[in-house]
Amino acid sequence: MFITDSPTRLGRVVRPGDADWDAARGTFNLLHDQQPAAIAFPADVREVAAVIADAAERGLRVAPQATGHNAGPLGSLEGTLILNTSALTGVSIDAAARRVRVGAATRWEEVTPQLSDLGLAALHGSSPDVGIVGYSLGGGIGWLARQHGMQTNAVTAIELVTADGRLVRADAEHDPELFWALRGGGGNFGVVTAIEFAVPEVRELYAGAMFFPLEQTADVVHAWTELLPALPDEITSWANVIHFPPLPEVPEPVRGRSFAIVMAAFLGSEAAGRALLRPLRRLGPVLDTFAPRPPVALSELAMDPRDPLPYRTTHALVDDLPAAALEELAQLAGPGSALVLLQLRHMGGALSRRPADAGARATLPGRICVFGLGVVPDAGAEPSVMEQLDAVSAAVAAHRAGDYPNFVEEPADASGFFDADTWERLRRVKALHDPQDLFRGNHHVPPATRA
Ligand SMILES: Cc1cc2nc3c(=O)[nH]c(=O)nc-3n(C[C@H](O)[C@H](O)[C@H](O)COP(=O)(O)OP(=O)(O)OC[C@H]3O[C@@H](n4cnc5c(N)ncnc54)[C@H](O)[C@@H]3O)c2cc1C
Repeated sequence: MFITDSPTRLGRVVRPGDADWDAARGTFNLLHDQQPAAIAFPADVREVAAVIADAAERGLRVAPQATGHNAGPLGSLEGTLILNTSALTGVSIDAAARRVRVGAATRWEEVTPQLSDLGLAALHGSSPDVGIVGYSLGGGIGWLARQHGMQTNAVTAIELVTADGRLVRADAEHDPELFWALRGGGGNFGVVTAIEFAVPEVRELYAGAMFFPLEQTADVVHAWTELLPALPDEITSWANVIHFPPLPEVPEPVRGRSFAIVMAAFLGSEAAGRALLRPLRRLGPVLDTFAPRPPVALSELAMDPRDPLPYRTTHALVDDLPAAALEELAQLAGPGSALVLLQLRHMGGALSRRPADAGARATLPGRICVFGLGVVPDAGAEPSVMEQLDAVSAAVAAHRAGDYPNFVEEPADASGFFDADTWERLRRVKALHDPQDLFRGNHHVPPATRA
């Protein structure tokens, strides 16, 4: 079953038993023990096509993967080859046109500093080392989301190698149906080799975080949710509880400590931003990092971990978080919690408006995204982490409006992520471009079957 062709044709291929097998099959979540048939690292489009053809010949399916930040939904990889895109590098920025083109290997941190120097911002999320392609194909909600929407709606062209070995450039004029499907339907249609997207100009940005003592969590989340209806789309804010681990890589002031933290990015002046956040500042943060900043500051604003770690998560997009649910969440994340992070992201604004030229993932429902994460250092820790994650889900279940597929980290029935018409349309595009179901996106879209 393993690929044995000459490495010059397929590029680097790592197989079980090779010295670099464990390094090659690692993912960001150390709980996922990927055991594919082989892992290929093609270095150019020809090698991508050769790997796809070779896998098909051998009866293997192909799972495109970049950084492994969301490998969990793939489940068992038996009979599957991972096509790792990390050798497909390249970044070019057209500042005048405010357009970016990147190879499939590219992570956000490889474009945000340059863009920032040009007065431009990318629609990246909390983590600078997430891959641009996976993030963009699944949606992409970040610091400018309420004003500029999901990253997937900023995508202007996608180049990919399809099941028949063709290199296709999909955009609004060429293969528009495939272009539509890729933007939300993810890695089910081929191996993306490059992606192009628009980036907004940022004239003013006031951003930072207010840290409050953990004991104030309930007050902070109540004040934050009360503030949301008054906030314009120019401000995207997240309320968090973070229990920082006592590790040397965590900055000294927060190392081993716990806080309720409100973070925000406001596309406007310091004076206007201060006025918007006044009700929160009145609660007396012990540390306040808000200041006028260049866009690159958003890369690290969420203080996400950079190194892989073992963890479980839950999330829900909710329409409302009434006082009782907030109290419960505050308690679940409070002293002694098995969770490292409880995060509430303000949604709405542009996230709920359908752009005329949108793809399959046009909007996201809900006013708030609730996200919980617990670290599982050993099997003994798992029951208490799962119990608390389940309790978070239960606390908000009555208000659930939907899922955000990029935050679904376990195998799931992807039909639930789309309305019936969108799902059937995705399946028809899949049947047209990949009738044999060669490609395994992390959330599976099966080909439509003929009636
Ligand atoms: C620490 C952390 C922080 C995050 N923060 C945010 C956030 O703020 N906002 C947000 O919206 N999301 C966030 N995410 C979720 C993130 O968007 C998803 O995990 C996303 O799928 C990661 O893409 P990747 O390419 O890095 O990961 P991978 O696991 O490599 O890829 C995920 C999937 O994308 C598809 N894919 C990737 N590359 C290709 C390709 N070249 N061709 C075809 N398909 C491909 C495949 O289906 C693959 O299974 C975060 C995730 C983590 C772990």
